[in-house]
Amino acid sequence: MNEFDIISKYFAPLTMGESACADLKDDAAVLLVPPKHEIVVSTDTLNSGIHFLKDESPENIARKSLRMSLSDLAASGANPLCYQLSIAYPQRPEADWLESFTSALLADQKEFGIFCSGGDTTSIHGSLSISVTVIGSVPTGSAVRRGGAKDGDNIVLSGFVGDAALGLKSLWEGNEKLYSKAVGRYRVPESRINIADMVRKYANAAIDISDGFLADISHIAKGSALGADIYLGNNYLNFSTDVRLALESGFISLQEILCGGDDYELIMAVPQKNLGLLIDEMEKSNLKPQVIGGFKGKTLDVSLYDEEKKKLDITAGGWQHF
Ligand code: ADP
Ligand code: MG
Repeated sequence: MNEFDIISKYFAPLTMGESACADLKDDAAVLLVPPKHEIVVSTDTLNSGIHFLKDESPENIARKSLRMSLSDLAASGANPLCYQLSIAYPQRPEADWLESFTSALLADQKEFGIFCSGGDTTSIHGSLSISVTVIGSVPTGSAVRRGGAKDGDNIVLSGFVGDAALGLKSLWEGNEKLYSKAVGRYRVPESRINIADMVRKYANAAIDISDGFLADISHIAKGSALGADIYLGNNYLNFSTDVRLALESGFISLQEILCGGDDYELIMAVPQKNLGLLIDEMEKSNLKPQVIGGFKGKTLDVSLYDEEKKKLDITAGGWQHF
């Protein structure tokens, strides 16, 4: 099978017959922009051994690639349209691998209402590298940016954080049976693309958690020239059962939980007048939003408080490649 056979047999079906893609028989896709909309575009690259384990299954690699990229659209309040898929293979891919990889993509495409509009297929001296560029749209002028948070906005989290960090640590240290749910979340994150409309309707600013909860919250704070206060505890920031058990047993530290990346939940800055509406809508979609504090002041500091409102000494480090 040469490059062109691979494209026509395995990748062309991912266009789901969209005429814009001409069955991948042309140089480029020609996309229709919905009237009075702007295009929102974002790329994420996943490298073997960095973003997924070297022996990860093709299904999980596929799903993680698409979901990681879609997460950027969700944080911008954009509805997905299509995506470009660029793959660099260290050796010619096996038919079985391609079959599993593209079947998993197709299943996620159907779930998230998106098609593949093209991509690139190359070889590499190195290991497998996959790059997904998602293309979405928003009504003109309505994209949600990191810098839009206002003094007094609530900080709303779309779900639990720290599971991916725990999952990865469990895989490294051979504890994956004990924390299997967290491992699952590291391998294949939940997609929050289904709340893009809510982000646009109710949030002043949003970001997806890719580098780490504290690092990403400080990106909003800095971008908006505000500080952030976050409270741990019952009516504020809670963790999943796996993370709670791992913290209690000392397997992982609070610092690792709050600074580990890869959760792909959304952090939103939500004005008080929209808070109830957002929470209601999210709960109707079977999500468990958490209101964990607020953006305020001009200090640009992210402060974390325990259940007794005592300030904790945790620095906002996150994942960095270099
Ligand atoms: P070029 O030689 O100009 O790079 P290609 O032969 O790489 O063009 O691509 C031919 C067609 O196949 C294009 O429409 C491209 O978008 C599509 N394509 C190539 N690789 C992939 C892939 N991994 N996934 C989806 N579409 C792909
Ligand atoms: Mg090419």
